[in-house]
Amino acid sequence: MPTLDTVTPAAGERTPVDGEPCVLLKLGEVVLKGKNRELFERRLADNVRTAVRPIAKVDVIRRHGVFIVRTKDADVATVDALAERITDVMGIVWAHRAWRVGKDVESVERAALELMAGRTGTFAVRSRRRDKRFPLTSTELDRQVGGKINDKYGLKVQLKNPDTTLSIEVDRDEVFVFSGGLPGQGGLPAGMSGRALVLMSGGIDSPVAAYRMMRRGLRVDYLHFSGMPFTGPESIYKAYALVRELDKFQGGSRLFVVPFGKAQQQIKTSGADRLAVIAQRRLMLRTGELLARRLKGTALITGDALGQVSSQTLTNITALDDAVQLPILRPLVGMDKVEIMDQARRIRTLTISELPDEDCCTMLAPRRAETKAKIDDLRQIEKRLDEELADQLVTSAQEHRPIYGA
Ligand code: ATP
Ligand code: MG
Repeated sequence: MPTLDTVTPAAGERTPVDGEPCVLLKLGEVVLKGKNRELFERRLADNVRTAVRPIAKVDVIRRHGVFIVRTKDADVATVDALAERITDVMGIVWAHRAWRVGKDVESVERAALELMAGRTGTFAVRSRRRDKRFPLTSTELDRQVGGKINDKYGLKVQLKNPDTTLSIEVDRDEVFVFSGGLPGQGGLPAGMSGRALVLMSGGIDSPVAAYRMMRRGLRVDYLHFSGMPFTGPESIYKAYALVRELDKFQGGSRLFVVPFGKAQQQIKTSGADRLAVIAQRRLMLRTGELLARRLKGTALITGDALGQVSSQTLTNITALDDAVQLPILRPLVGMDKVEIMDQARRIRTLTISELPDEDCCTMLAPRRAETKAKIDDLRQIEKRLDEELADQLVTSAQEHRPIYGA
């Protein structure tokens, strides 16, 4: 790994801002301690490296509570692209495009003046020292650098709500100088909490559910049921596009697609009637459970929200839990539609979800769905279905690899 000496040009042959552009990352979940913290940082560094691989090969240097992302011969445009991409990596709270300069006040001043060039309005300098051996205290550094900026550009210092905040962070081997930053997702690195399977419709809710569980450290695979052969493939395209968008949060996503039309027909002819919707959901879950076990997943994830549609009653949700042994995670259970749509917009799945398709579920929707499904009645219906139905459905699954940006 190059040291600061090998990347900082010697005095006299300096680029406009002396030093090197890099990305400084602030990490989330500060409450984690000891082994968990170690696990968090290791996984996060891996995930960062993987996410930016198409842009550049980087070194991720772990420091106390921050990461430094460096790349050889970095130019500002590359560093901007790296920072932008890293904001999607779960576990990052802030991505700062920073100048990494030598540990002397002159280098810091030079970088600060360069960063403030062309700015108007008020400003404040905020310094922090992760290395307390630096000759100036934070307050002294604030004053000294602030004074230089004021001398050169005539800008006024304002500590409360300044137009520009210039940050200086003194570290072990170097100093970082930056202004502003890009907010990240927070949460835990994908994969840190294990693996689970998302039941992914083409709707608004399940992509948000997937996002929320990835943010809690799960790495997820996806299962979609299409109405094929009785509907067109549109819902598959939507599920594919949704998973490709969500892939930016974890990488390496797998989508399994199961043609569900014939199974739905069986449910219909079994006389399920008002229970058809719940019966088919149970079959989806049982199929999901079989697939999850093959993929070493230990939970199922759905986009159910309590009371959102007339069939999402507490009784019905309980009847769904009864169908499988794996836990069913429902991160949206207590959210209302407006909140869910806001999130969908933010993670950029909403416009995809709103594209028209033929949802496989409409085929079975009775005029009035049961709101108090009895588990015994459901079991009776299931006795009339092929015993191996869930197995057959898993076997018929087709695997896809939707890659973000591809
Ligand atoms: P969504 O917006 O996610 O479709 P919804 O509010 O429309 O949710 P339902 O259609 O009742 O609710 O579905 C509840 C959950 O069941 C979904 O969030 C999803 O996890 C799962 N699900 C429904 N349809 C499918 C499907 N075709 N393939 C896979 N999972 C599905
Ligand atoms: Mg739906």
